[in-house]
Amino acid sequence: ILPLKTIEEVSEDVEKWAIQKKEELDILRRNEEFRKEFLLNLSHELKTPIFAVQGYIHTLLDGAIDDPNVNKVFLKNATKNVDRLCHLLDDLDEISKLESGEMTINKETFVIQDMIKDIFDTLSLKANTKGIKFNIKKGCEAPVAVQADKEKIRQVLMNLVDNSIKYGKNDGHTIASIYVMDDKQVLVEISDDGIGISEEHLPRVFERFYRTDRARSRDIGGTGLGLAIVKHIIEAHNQTINVRSKPEIGSTFGFTLDTGRE
Ligand code: ADP
Repeated sequence: ILPLKTIEEVSEDVEKWAIQKKEELDILRRNEEFRKEFLLNLSHELKTPIFAVQGYIHTLLDGAIDDPNVNKVFLKNATKNVDRLCHLLDDLDEISKLESGEMTINKETFVIQDMIKDIFDTLSLKANTKGIKFNIKKGCEAPVAVQADKEKIRQVLMNLVDNSIKYGKNDGHTIASIYVMDDKQVLVEISDDGIGISEEHLPRVFERFYRTDRARSRDIGGTGLGLAIVKHIIEAHNQTINVRSKPEIGSTFGFTLDTGRE
């Protein structure tokens, strides 16, 4: 026969149980708030381009279609907003896959500088329009092999370099640096001398849909999902990503990768 518990022991059990229940409820509530916020953000992000398309189409139907000075411009603007919607849907697709744990990481060995040069080539037209120059930092040119999911790391670098153009200043610079930390790990950094991010926004830029007021007010086409996707990918590699930035000075995003060496 088990010895009966004292009244103090029973009270202790009850209190522990109550604390555990409260914690469970808190988690449920937080998840619920998270979902609500997500939906609110999503509907906001969808509404902006949809209303714009609606506006252009109505204006065209109301007569602007016969005005050769504006009809093409309105159609182009409508298309730009449809493109933005497609981009948003692609990003959403991607993030829901990442968050439901459906992502598989297929590692292979590749030279990180080759990938960076390739991305610089792909984005050179866009950079040219703002007079932004791409560079690999002096002393970081010697090829460094990393072991990671090539397509996913390409996506990470595309997002970071694309942001360095979007939030870069005219005639500015995007610099890639590669540091071999020890035999096992490499640090890759993408730096710009653009608008930067203030201290209050900095801890939140990796949250989905988070965009600073400056990014929103400038209407730089973006979904606010890019950095959330980047962070997921790096964490799925069991690596880390961080950012340092100063308004009007610039930003540096850095992430680690494995060299694959034991
Ligand atoms: P977006 O689609 O808005 O670019 P991201 O998730 O890529 O979304 O970035 C989130 C926010 O972080 C941006 O809206 C912008 O405010 C800020 N940000 C990202 N990269 C930079 C950068 N290189 N310089 C300044 N701000 C940046």
